[in-house]
Amino acid sequence: MDFKELQKFIKLEDRRIKRYFNGLEDKDKRILARTVKLSEEVGELAAEVLAHHNWQRQEKLDRRANEDLGHEVADVIITTFLLADTLEIDIEKSLREKMKKINLRYRDKGKKNKP
Ligand SMILES: [Mg+2]
Repeated sequence: MDFKELQKFIKLEDRRIKRYFNGLEDKDKRILARTVKLSEEVGELAAEVLAHHNWQRQEKLDRRANEDLGHEVADVIITTFLLADTLEIDIEKSLREKMKKINLRYRDKGKKNKP
C-alpha cells in the first residue's frame, strides 16, 4: 500500500462517517469527535499492549476480544489521519518536515558528542 491509497481510503471513510453519524456535518464537531475518538483508540491500543504481555488481571484477559495488536495500531493511524484531514493538515508534508527535523536532531547530537 502506498500513501495515496491510504489518503484515498481516509477521504472515503470521512464521507461514510459523515453519512452514518447525524450532526457530524459540522466541521468543528468532527474535529472534537475525532480528537476524542483518537483518545479512545490510544486507550484500546494500550489495553491490547498490556494484554499482549499478560500484564492485566486474569478477569480482563478472559474477557479479551483477542483483537490483533496491529489492528489497534492501524486504528490509531487511521483516526489520526482522519483528524489531520479534518484539520486540513497536509499530513504528507508534515511527516516529511518532521522526519527531517528528527534526522537533523540526531545529526546535530552526533556532532556534539564527537571529541
Ligand atoms: Mg481500536
